[in-house]
Amino acid sequence: MTSPSAPVSFEFFPTKTDAGHAKLIAAAHVLAGENPEFFSVTYGAGGSTRDRTLNTVLQLDQEVKVPTAPHLSCVGDSKEDLRSLLQQYRESGIQRIVALRGDLPSGMGQASGELRYANELVEFIRAETGDHFTIEVAAYPEAHPQARNYEQDLTNFVRKARAGADSAITQYFFNADCYFHFVERVRKAGVDIPIIPGIMPITNYSKLARFSDACGAEIPRWIRKQLEAYGDDSDSIAAFGTDVITDMCQRLLDGGAPGLHFYTLNQAEASLAVWRNLRG
Ligand code: FAD
Repeated sequence: MTSPSAPVSFEFFPTKTDAGHAKLIAAAHVLAGENPEFFSVTYGAGGSTRDRTLNTVLQLDQEVKVPTAPHLSCVGDSKEDLRSLLQQYRESGIQRIVALRGDLPSGMGQASGELRYANELVEFIRAETGDHFTIEVAAYPEAHPQARNYEQDLTNFVRKARAGADSAITQYFFNADCYFHFVERVRKAGVDIPIIPGIMPITNYSKLARFSDACGAEIPRWIRKQLEAYGDDSDSIAAFGTDVITDMCQRLLDGGAPGLHFYTLNQAEASLAVWRNLRG
């Protein structure tokens, strides 16, 4: 394997329990040793994790000492909520934000926020805070699950980038070609922001299958069949998953991907196994 000089970042989700939070912080300490460009922490659309996201971001940034980016979503939050969060982050020295529309959890009803799409949130952040924040947005190489079609989704991505995004992180995928095709189409549309592949390590087949159905990530048949065959043999799943994801990441980096963003699910091992393989 060649050593990647490309930057790496790691994503966490805020937990509900003290034990879960302690695991997150332990994983973050391990991953901090890889000198990541940044950590990020997800946000429950509608504000369900507002305080937990804020506290986790500040702890990772100030105690673990890795620059940390909060995710911020606009469905279900008022402009006043968003303004106040932006102000708290700014005053705490946070410099990067992942700006999203978000998905309201089932049971929270229809979106009630004043901003409907991520491009409006990006415009809002720029209007409120100028160039203070580096803004990341989401990208969908396999198209967003609610998109009417690929072309409209691409147009919507381009609009979001032009609204003032500095960089994008993709939904995860298991097929490098969809990433290369997406980047090519975005470049042809005249948008040149970095598009960083979001990488989901493979550790548990049933959870992965459920999650992938919901977010529109296709698990290729040969990967599904192989994972099904392993059943409950978690060591074999982890070994196979590490090989498959390492190979894909190597292809992505060789093909010009400007970095990798790992969805850690608050666990260091699986992301680290892939990243260390790539480092050689
Ligand atoms: P948008 O870019 O607004 O797109 C949503 C849909 O609307 C797409 O189908 C798009 O084609 C369409 N669209 C976009 N703009 C317009 C427009 N102006 N007019 C008409 N149609 C439009 N979710 C969370 O709740 N919390 C998180 O922390 C979180 N983190 C994420 C991190 C990453 C890297 C990624 C890839 C996803 C994350 N998500 C998170 C999931 C994300 O919120 C969902 O995928 C959500 O459904 C779309 O968010 P978006 O910002 O991509 O939306």
